[in-house]
Amino acid sequence: MQLKTILNRVQKFTSFVYGAVRWVDSASVPTLEVQIHARVNSRPLCGQCGRRRPGYDTLPERRFEFIPMWGNKVFFVYAPRRVSCPCCGIRVERMPWVAGKHRLTDTYAWFLAGWAKRLSWHEVAEAFRTSWDHVFDSVERAVAWGRAHQDLSGVIAIGIDEIAWQRGHRYLTLVYQIDADCKRLLWIGEKRTVKTLLRFFRWFGTARNQALQFICSDMWKPYLKVIARKAGTAVHILDRYHIMTHLSKAIDEVRAHEARELKEKGYEPVLTKTRWLLLKRPEHLTDTQETRLADLLRYNLRSIRSYLLKEEFQLFWRYTSPYWAGQFLDRWCTRTMRSKLDPMKRVAKMLRRHRPLLLNWFRAKKQFSSGIVEGFNTKAKLTTRKAYGFRTYHAVEIALYHALGALPAPKTAHKFF
Ligand SMILES: [Zn+2]
Repeated sequence: MQLKTILNRVQKFTSFVYGAVRWVDSASVPTLEVQIHARVNSRPLCGQCGRRRPGYDTLPERRFEFIPMWGNKVFFVYAPRRVSCPCCGIRVERMPWVAGKHRLTDTYAWFLAGWAKRLSWHEVAEAFRTSWDHVFDSVERAVAWGRAHQDLSGVIAIGIDEIAWQRGHRYLTLVYQIDADCKRLLWIGEKRTVKTLLRFFRWFGTARNQALQFICSDMWKPYLKVIARKAGTAVHILDRYHIMTHLSKAIDEVRAHEARELKEKGYEPVLTKTRWLLLKRPEHLTDTQETRLADLLRYNLRSIRSYLLKEEFQLFWRYTSPYWAGQFLDRWCTRTMRSKLDPMKRVAKMLRRHRPLLLNWFRAKKQFSSGIVEGFNTKAKLTTRKAYGFRTYHAVEIALYHALGALPAPKTAHKFF
């Protein structure tokens, strides 16, 4: 069987035929070149408008990389024609194996992009003996195609989250669709300002903004402002995950402060290795950790009191009636305000200020659990962290859309992957 026969089976073109296949002697890696010819008497398509036009001239041969086979690199070699198009002028013809001026065929780019969902970009480059730039280029093409072809209709609920990147110096705003039947990353913006979120709503469009019924977000002021302005009819829910994160941070602050104080006074450092004990849910503790926590609870420390306040607050989420949840919230805030624990008091003040939004969660019948945004947050952090080489914002953006966007791909893209 000839290689041509295999190629015709996996990727057949109507107006082009495969010609001679030859080894490239000078290449460092075993390399095959497959000649491609235009069918005799076929007229080229204009690369701009796609219409059949008379030929103008022929350019020198170009090489387009295809999926490697059995350890051999494979290139298509073709001399593109130029057309004389009455609408577009002199243009390079359209070639069905590649869009635009790329050096990788579309098939190979989809192949690499597919693997880049499972492996890091470095691993993909290594496995297929190609460069990081080629992998990046492939993922970028897949993301561009997917974003241009994605269906944005019927989005009812969104979650807004932010993550830090570049060692916490910069922030990204991420907007997710969190409907029961469709969860995906919709949009990414640099920073977490009023302008950032305004850009999302502008991109999403007025009609779709007005169709939003639920929006989950943190108590971050710029977000609150923009949401009220742009999607006023939606029920705005402060999500549980972020609220509990604020409480954990407050506990950590109390503990760190107290640990320093105890050390200065020469007491045994009871609090130095207990950070995780206080932040973990009791049901997630190991046996040894449980014993340590029991030891710790014997001291009437500020850290312990803030820990108990946070544990008590978990009860809030068990309510079903917004009214009784509100009563609980008020009592909890009053007690916390009397606790003399400044970081905890700050959280209580914040919760009081946003009481109606907090209770919206119960009005929305708890259908948006904290797990959705939290799960996405973890995945997004993992994507940016494992991404060695993502120095630019653009690369992070592409990586996140690729990993979390649930973007569509053309049917042919799945043939080789
Ligand atoms: Zn044209």
